[in-house]
Amino acid sequence: MQLTHLRSYARPIDLESAVELLSEGGRGTRLMAAGTDLVLSGSDEITGLVDLGGLNLAYVEERDGAVAIGAMTTFTELLEHPAATGYLDGVVVEMLRRVGSPLLRNVATVGGNLVRKQPWSDVIPLFRALGASVTLFDGDVRSGPIDDLYAEAAHLTGAILTEIVLPSQPVGTAAAFWKFTRSAVDIATLNCAALIQTEESGCIRARVFVGATPRLAAAVPSAEAALVGTDLSAAAIATAARAAADEVPTGDDLRATAAYRTRLVSVGVTRCLEDAKRRLEGVTS
Ligand SMILES: Cc1cc2nc3c(=O)[nH]c(=O)nc-3n(C[C@H](O)[C@H](O)[C@H](O)COP(=O)(O)OP(=O)(O)OC[C@H]3O[C@@H](n4cnc5c(N)ncnc54)[C@H](O)[C@@H]3O)c2cc1C
Repeated sequence: MQLTHLRSYARPIDLESAVELLSEGGRGTRLMAAGTDLVLSGSDEITGLVDLGGLNLAYVEERDGAVAIGAMTTFTELLEHPAATGYLDGVVVEMLRRVGSPLLRNVATVGGNLVRKQPWSDVIPLFRALGASVTLFDGDVRSGPIDDLYAEAAHLTGAILTEIVLPSQPVGTAAAFWKFTRSAVDIATLNCAALIQTEESGCIRARVFVGATPRLAAAVPSAEAALVGTDLSAAAIATAARAAADEVPTGDDLRATAAYRTRLVSVGVTRCLEDAKRRLEGVTS
């Protein structure tokens, strides 16, 4: 334990008490899920913890084609659940298998990942591409699109993320996730997620997100616009990938230069769209 300034710890068994304890604890008190980030941060500012482990928020449920995920569900619990395996041809499982190591996946929670907003998060780009919704509790229950968590003015102070719902997807929809890393367990040098929805006329909806740029995942509207109305041919995918490489701002860090990342944007968007298209063809043929 590196939180050397810790003075209080509580493990409430209902949401109301958790919110009260958080508010009464003041500036130094934090909600804790698995603590993989929080404890490692070793921050001197943290003087109190409200452990979310007693709130019964670890569950996965299939609800008419949608998948409801309690915020305290670990990555392993989610990736082993049939509802996740069956969702859009296993795209969520495919992404989760690329998150850290099995040891990390056994403890780290879905909610902790989404709230922490780490720029390299693999969960955020895929869940946003899928159009997930989230439920928060701050005394009242509020539900809304996951995108609201990442809006510029968004702040979660005082609220607990309780549930994430991956929506039921219409027939003719497929999604894919792509991640580039320096080693099997490294965080992403760049990642990408895409969802496409087609009808006989061609692509009617496209969502493309690129993350670890090295900033937090963001939508790529120019690539999405380049896909809608097309037959998702190789040429259409190439146009979308070029648009993404032009639009997505990239930067340098210890993992890659901005120029290298821009090249990865093009590769990642292409791979994601090709994979999603293959899945679609597998389902419809
Ligand atoms: C070695 C290592 C490798 C990693 N590799 C990857 C990777 O490849 N891909 C990837 O995406 N991530 C990776 N991560 C990040 C990992 O996924 C996150 O650490 C994890 O998801 C955080 O979950 P947690 O339950 O431990 O959260 P905690 O550390 O407990 O909390 C994180 C933050 O979220 C807040 N919080 C937690 N739950 C809630 C809630 N329900 N409501 C409101 N606030 C909440 C806490 O107050 C805290 O500020 C890695 C982390 C480590 C340590």
